Amino acid sequence: MKKSRKSRLLPDDYVRGILNGDHIILSRAITLIESSLSSDRAIAEKIIEKILPETGKSIRIGVTGVPGVGKSTFIEAFGKHITAQKKKLAILAIDPSSQKTKGSILGDKTRMEQLSVDPLAFIRPTATSLALGGVASKTQETILLCEAAGFEIIIVETVGVGQSEVAVRNMVDFFLLLMLAGAGDELQGIKKGIMEMADGIVITKADGDNIKRAKQAQADFQHALHLFPSSESGWSPKVLTASSPNKTGIREVEEMISSFQKLTVQHGFFEEQRKQQKLEWFNAEISSLLQRKFLESAKAKKLIEQFKNNVISEDTFPTKAARQLLIKLNTK
Ligand code: GDP
Repeated sequence: MKKSRKSRLLPDDYVRGILNGDHIILSRAITLIESSLSSDRAIAEKIIEKILPETGKSIRIGVTGVPGVGKSTFIEAFGKHITAQKKKLAILAIDPSSQKTKGSILGDKTRMEQLSVDPLAFIRPTATSLALGGVASKTQETILLCEAAGFEIIIVETVGVGQSEVAVRNMVDFFLLLMLAGAGDELQGIKKGIMEMADGIVITKADGDNIKRAKQAQADFQHALHLFPSSESGWSPKVLTASSPNKTGIREVEEMISSFQKLTVQHGFFEEQRKQQKLEWFNAEISSLLQRKFLESAKAKKLIEQFKNNVISEDTFPTKAARQLLIKLNTK
């Protein structure tokens, strides 16, 4: 293969590798997507343009839940169940906490021991926060690459800490929330907004002494979900229980997702949601590009510094200061 500078391949070499399902080339292409170098960005865009006709054929599943709920253990069990059927599965793990430590790659590899050595599985941790502008779009582009590489099921895993859930919800077809039985009310309170976004809930660790509690939680959550306004998908979110070590409830989760897909494809919601997601992605990209462009301008930088002082000294309140700043920027 021909090599360009900085050991980058030519766009066509990446495209060929991705379409052949080569995990190493796929990884290298994702690195280009994640890169902040404009030369990498340019190659990434060429790659995406070329693979675009081969995208869109997977089912995209978001998996979320608080740390310790059992996400990686569940994904490992679910993933092995999928690959046992000779289906290809990609896992994109978003771990905002790992940004500083850069420890997520090893962490995730060991967290999903069996899947990490399964040739039908591809695990890619992303050590970035989705709350940062522009990062969600990198994950969305990564989804496209994985689809072109032939992955039929794509899981985007995120830690249930807030903002990243909304970003992930907006890039997947099915949003799965993992919950613990008997966790404190406070925790469930935090999760209410996220619960409303879920297409399915799985009560984890439904094994041993915990089975009864898990069943009770299942009934409670199912009841709580009925109180939410019905979704435009026509789908009623389901609550299941699962035990990852015992491999119980795993097949049911797959069946739930298949039923969702079947129903929403039939009704047209599946395609409609994807269209809406593309538009949201487009809008978010415009905002992020404008913001970046704006903040890079020397004139804006200077004005921001000036106005900051006005805001701090309370001469001008923040909304007014922002408006005045824009007027000044346009007029001078
Ligand atoms: P994550 O932080 O959400 O990814 O959670 P992990 O998958 O790392 O799991 C946290 C802990 O719960 C680990 O010690 C797991 O072994 C344990 N665990 C996960 N799933 C189950 C389960 O279904 N049953 C039991 N008994 N333990 C589980």
